[in-house]
Amino acid sequence: MNLLHRLIDLVYPPRCPVCRSFLPQGSRKEGKGYQGICSSCLGDFHPLNPPYCTICGRPFASTSGDCHVCENCLRKRPAFHALGAPYLYEGSLQTVIHLFKYAGRSGLVTFLGPLLASFARQWTPAEKVSLVMPVPLHPRRLRERGFNQSQLLAGYVAAVLGTGLDFLSLRRVKYTLPQTGLGKTERRKNVRQAFALKMPGQVSGRTVLVVDDVATTGNTLDECARVLLKAGAEKVLALVVARTPNPAS
Ligand SMILES: [Zn+2]
Ligand SMILES: [Zn+2]
Repeated sequence: MNLLHRLIDLVYPPRCPVCRSFLPQGSRKEGKGYQGICSSCLGDFHPLNPPYCTICGRPFASTSGDCHVCENCLRKRPAFHALGAPYLYEGSLQTVIHLFKYAGRSGLVTFLGPLLASFARQWTPAEKVSLVMPVPLHPRRLRERGFNQSQLLAGYVAAVLGTGLDFLSLRRVKYTLPQTGLGKTERRKNVRQAFALKMPGQVSGRTVLVVDDVATTGNTLDECARVLLKAGAEKVLALVVARTPNPAS
């Protein structure tokens, strides 16, 4: 730790962004200025444990049994091949994502990015991902928020997987309402034809990994996957930090 960081820590002792408790000395990551999450809040992250749906990743209500395809996916198969998530969208991770997305704490990507990237590395070994794409924001939303949280996360994933990162080709052409607070049918309708692909030849024959922060119904990722497959992508995988815990049937 350099002198400047020592001095900053002395004046502003690092605190956990979730519970505001003071962090042990030396927990500031060298060179990144990021302070970390305290161990008690980390202990409140809920991993997405099996059994879950092998396609949409939604956990099953029962805690025993094997992973299999859920009824929703059997009825209407999503366009993406599979959706991976290391955690459920609840507990203190939900707070971290809220701070990251809505409270301007974009620096939290130095915590969330490596978390997602290390999951991606063990989740996709058999797949030949050749391109990573973040779910795009509409230009108007991007102006409001100042950054695309998915793009920040996707940067870490592409770096760890050693693949290309394309955050320009896939574009959001419809200004959509936030998916939260909408009913099931409205959510699907809300994102329909919301995306378009510039330079469709770019994805032809490739396995594309689409990255977002949270998946609720998976409709947004499904819609992105549909556009990419239509443009000739061989396979589309979806990756998020957290998945909502509503159980699959
Ligand atoms: Zn904490
Ligand atoms: Zn499913």
